[in-house]
Amino acid sequence: MTSGQLDCPWCGCGWMIACSKCTKSYTFAEVRETDLPMEELGRREVKAMGLTTVTDQEISEWAEAMEETLSHFDIGDIVVYLDGSYWTVDSKDIAFDGYFASHKLDRLPHAEALSEPEHLNAFLGNKKYWIDRELADRE
Ligand SMILES: [Zn+2]
Repeated sequence: MTSGQLDCPWCGCGWMIACSKCTKSYTFAEVRETDLPMEELGRREVKAMGLTTVTDQEISEWAEAMEETLSHFDIGDIVVYLDGSYWTVDSKDIAFDGYFASHKLDRLPHAEALSEPEHLNAFLGNKKYWIDRELADRE
């Protein structure tokens, strides 16, 4: 599912990926090939979110944006989400301004969590991490 990030990124909405099938949130997602058209996945997401007023036009815009997002990855890549952007889990020297905060990391906390699972929630689940880096001109 695409990001449903709110003003509380520390809750997980700023660093996890939700599944449009079961609506649970996951730390990691694998890029896979599917026979389902992108629009179909968009409709599934709309349904999962319980939205009722989404137009076909919006679905096809969503599909286009999702294709653009996925074009940066290869089949089999393990992808994580952080504050508006998707990254391969082994990305290094990450520096960017997200939806909420400005980030500067040698490695993704998700990658650290592979060997130290409690690190992720201790780090990105910490409200202070986000507030300390909050963008001044955040909309
Ligand atoms: Zn949240």
